[in-house]
Amino acid sequence: MIQITVPLNFLGTVYREIRQSLVDMREMFELTDTAPEVQDAPGAPAFRPGEGRVTFRGVRFGYGPDREVLRGLDFDVPGGGKLAIVGPSGAGKSTVARLLFRFYDVTGGAVEIDGQDVRGVTQESLRRGLGVVPQDTVLFNDTIGYNIAYGRAGASREEVEAAARAARIDGFIEGLPQGYDTLVGERGLKLSGGEKQRVAIARTILKNPPVLVLDEATSALDTGTERAIQAELRRLGEGRTVIMIAHRLSTVVEADEIVVLEAGRVVERGTHGDLLARGGVYARMWAAQEADAGQPEAGAAAE
Ligand code: ATP
Repeated sequence: MIQITVPLNFLGTVYREIRQSLVDMREMFELTDTAPEVQDAPGAPAFRPGEGRVTFRGVRFGYGPDREVLRGLDFDVPGGGKLAIVGPSGAGKSTVARLLFRFYDVTGGAVEIDGQDVRGVTQESLRRGLGVVPQDTVLFNDTIGYNIAYGRAGASREEVEAAARAARIDGFIEGLPQGYDTLVGERGLKLSGGEKQRVAIARTILKNPPVLVLDEATSALDTGTERAIQAELRRLGEGRTVIMIAHRLSTVVEADEIVVLEAGRVVERGTHGDLLARGGVYARMWAAQEADAGQPEAGAAAE
């Protein structure tokens, strides 16, 4: 009996992982089903994680032939470096993250991680070395424990609980009627935006990737929760390369480099201090945001 159920359970788990990783990645990146499938090169080796250097070399890209979304993007983030990408809506910020994960192939230039072109390694190994905390975390219709353990196949209950503690969601989970076995997702308990973000943080702690993409939440969290989550994200980024896709500016102040994108081109780059002193696009965006912050109702009305 055991000999039969063990392999079946194993297959069930593998199937569930493959299916869910597709759902997860697609939803995380708001990919449509029409996204072209990229293929592993024949005989492609596995990605070999190193210090976590991320390089975009003259990257050009369009979702279709008639419109280029990125028109020559260059940056080089050393291992452990923090890069922020800012710019108006539609500038191409989230596209940068999609290219890093190789959901699409560039039409010019190259994306490299630790000196390896993302087109030259298997997708599965590449994505194992990259983490993402997305804008809106997708929860699977499963237990909250499973939702955290999903960060790393084979994680033990102790490791899941340690990750939950590090993400400061352990107290919440222990207060639930079935603790880590409580069902969440569409058919289970609904979690708040902040709780879902913490599940995503716990998942990422388990995964422990050298390179992390933070796609800043555009959905409104209350100020207290947002501050707490930002502190957690800052801790999560320690010792890792972090690419921040910033839809607002509040989180980018400490980045080593800020790249300002407009219509797929870099219009300014530098630290927060450099860019304020320059008095250009970024300084104007910053001033506009500060003015909004002075009128809390204006931000709320815009949601
Ligand atoms: P926001 O701050 O609003 O999220 P963004 O800077 O992240 O914007 P992207 O999501 O990178 O912008 O999109 C850049 C451009 O590419 C936009 O004009 C968008 O309409 C287009 N685009 C994004 N995804 C697709 C897609 N799957 N197919 C076709 N066009 C797309």
